[in-house]
Amino acid sequence: MLEIKNMLVFYENAIAVNDLSFTVNEGDIIGIFGSNGAGKTTLMNTISGITLHVKQRMQREGGQHISIYGEQIFQGEDISNKMPHYRVKKGIVLSRERHPVFRDLTVEDNLILGGFLIKDKQIIKESLALIYEIFPALTRLKKRKAGFCSGGEQEMISIGMALAANPKLLLMDEPLLGLSPTAQDQVVQALSAIQKLGLTILLTEQYARPIMPYITYGYIIENGSLIMSGTREELMQNEEVLSAYFGVNK
Ligand code: ATP
Repeated sequence: MLEIKNMLVFYENAIAVNDLSFTVNEGDIIGIFGSNGAGKTTLMNTISGITLHVKQRMQREGGQHISIYGEQIFQGEDISNKMPHYRVKKGIVLSRERHPVFRDLTVEDNLILGGFLIKDKQIIKESLALIYEIFPALTRLKKRKAGFCSGGEQEMISIGMALAANPKLLLMDEPLLGLSPTAQDQVVQALSAIQKLGLTILLTEQYARPIMPYITYGYIIENGSLIMSGTREELMQNEEVLSAYFGVNK
């Protein structure tokens, strides 16, 4: 479904993503794990087209020089030079880290806004019903202003907004960041529900433990480079992975 070939991203002369290649197949839940500054957000922003958009804005405004190399192939099409809105229409939708929501809008209006590129009201209605099914906790919060929701609820809204855009490939950048264990559970359980809808998920996290039972394949990155990959079982048998990403020392 998605093929990333030799992706390199530089901010000025500093490398953020270093020759990354990987494939995401339909129905997968792929985890990309790495510590602070490993390049997770840059990778997600590049796949969603945001890095390209920022690069072009910087070029116009004479700001920071950003370079992007490599190929990004989605469903057989080279999307490397395509803008974010084009990618959203094709089905690549990003739920960004630290759940940015529109604080003064109600929960439901936030969700509707997530589907703003979709013109068919019936499809939006069906998406809303699905989102409330995946996150039952949001049903009773429909009319509440998003700014008054907890961090966990805001993360559900943020993922809900991405789902409202009707994705085929859902990108989730550190969806568990800063959440309580209960909120983490709700988000993690949503992964299986989302996968059952036929969606493919590519997500990043610093800490692998809560996500690991759900992934089909995982990659570990450090300083922008791929250092290890494997199935859930393979990664969990590796002592370095266990101590760095699971907090387990043998
Ligand atoms: P975190 O978990 O802290 O969010 P991350 O794995 O998402 O980290 P990135 O935010 O992609 O990592 O950062 C990768 C590297 O690129 C880091 O060294 C970071 O300092 C650098 N970087 C990120 N954004 C910029 C930018 N706009 N300008 C310059 N350097 C940047």
